[in-house]
Amino acid sequence: MLEFGSIINGKQEFSGEWHSIHSPYTGKVVGRVSMISPKELEKVIQQTHATKIHLTRYERSNILNKMAAVIDTKTDEIAKIITDETGLCLKDTKYEASRVSDVLRFSAAKALDDDSEVFPCDITKNGRPRRIYTTRYPLNLISAITPFNHPMNQVAHKIAPAIATNNTVILKPSEKAPLCAYYFAQLALDCGLPPNMLNVVNGPIKETCDMLVTHPLVSMVSFTGSSAVGKHIAQTAGYKKLVLELGGSSAFLVLHDADIDEVVDITIAGTFKNSAQRCTAIRRILVDEEIADEYAEKLAEKVSKIKYGNPYDEHTEMGTVINEASAIEIEKRINETIAAGAKLLCGNKREGALLAPTVLDFAKNDFPVCAKETFGPVVPIIRFKTLTEAIQIANDTPYGLSGGVMSNDWQSIQRVITELETGTVNVNEAPSYRLEWTPFGGVKDSGLGYKEGVIETMKAFTHVKTYSLPWDVA
Ligand code: NAD
Repeated sequence: MLEFGSIINGKQEFSGEWHSIHSPYTGKVVGRVSMISPKELEKVIQQTHATKIHLTRYERSNILNKMAAVIDTKTDEIAKIITDETGLCLKDTKYEASRVSDVLRFSAAKALDDDSEVFPCDITKNGRPRRIYTTRYPLNLISAITPFNHPMNQVAHKIAPAIATNNTVILKPSEKAPLCAYYFAQLALDCGLPPNMLNVVNGPIKETCDMLVTHPLVSMVSFTGSSAVGKHIAQTAGYKKLVLELGGSSAFLVLHDADIDEVVDITIAGTFKNSAQRCTAIRRILVDEEIADEYAEKLAEKVSKIKYGNPYDEHTEMGTVINEASAIEIEKRINETIAAGAKLLCGNKREGALLAPTVLDFAKNDFPVCAKETFGPVVPIIRFKTLTEAIQIANDTPYGLSGGVMSNDWQSIQRVITELETGTVNVNEAPSYRLEWTPFGGVKDSGLGYKEGVIETMKAFTHVKTYSLPWDVA
């Protein structure tokens, strides 16, 4: 069983109070983390804020590259930890570990970049013989709060860019899956990260989160999680920078000219990977009614063959959702959606936190699985007659994270790219496709339009200062 103390000032601190983590698959305790009290957290906030980091670009890049290299040698160990605490299958958690090393390497590369800009000033009739330059400097101190669904990659997406920009961070990982976050932070220390650059805590949820969000010494809250909590943070944080990466309800538009076999494969990968617990998972399949019968039949046939179950089996393609309560809620919504008039094509079986991959046909946008973000392995098919109707349905949601379209017709593709109210549109690919350093993030209830991805996060984690110099050489 793994045990971690709060990571404070380069060491693990043990308070004697524990939070235990249970495997969603076996129900057994797989680890525990030490709890911090609000009084202790106040001290941690003070001391982290007082710490200033002055690593050179070379030193930051070196630490990040070292971490990536170690992670590459420990993929199996990391995958096992994530599987223990989330019930996600090893296939998914090995992929997650490999994404983490990508995030670290991209951050290491960007840490070396000169991020300044130069503006000549003698360019208008009001100009002067000067040049204006920009330089970036760290915010110091950032509160990072992360969700359970990609418990290590979400952490890496906040911590690696923070290291690359010389910031200090207090991380509060999800209490549902915190073990891999502590593992990541200990590994960072082992690779040479200075004390107090990254402190990691879990405590009583409300008090801990409220302090990290509202404390006046915190310059920025970087949050990934549900829209409800994100909006609560927006209301309470006060005068500080906010980046909120929130929920989604991605529509996947399948137009009449799409290759059905290709669409089926992309649908399955785009929906059920990570037990469909991804903010960008396909949540609504919108299919042209001309091809909907053939598509639905082929999709159901393949989905019913997905190997789900024991997450530790190397052949398993889908493990559990995060806990039984979540599985029960999803099952309830599936049954309500069937009662509302949808047709069950496959799935809708539950054993503890394990749910069979489920496909529903003849769904409508206001049926329960579509109306809210249903964070698990169920996907509804909604049939449409025209592209205008499909775009209207896709946008008829509070969320605006991502979308996808399958077609070879450029006019239609162009309309979807332009008219979907989302942060991302992928063509002939699932809504989830991205690189770890490309801009990523949503609008509407999915976020305020600020992006993550290594490059954008490094911008968000720094202030721009301009300075100007005389420059009279023509
Ligand atoms: P959640 O909102 O329940 O929890 C996220 C984090 O917020 C946890 O660490 C939790 O302890 C903390 N928290 C709880 N109460 C808080 C409060 N009052 N103030 C501040 N923080 C508080 O989310 P979850 O269930 O862990 O994760 C799933 C959600 O995350 C889904 O909605 C999913 O779409 C979203 N998500 C979004 C992205 C993205 O990039 N847009 C990525 C992954 C997950």
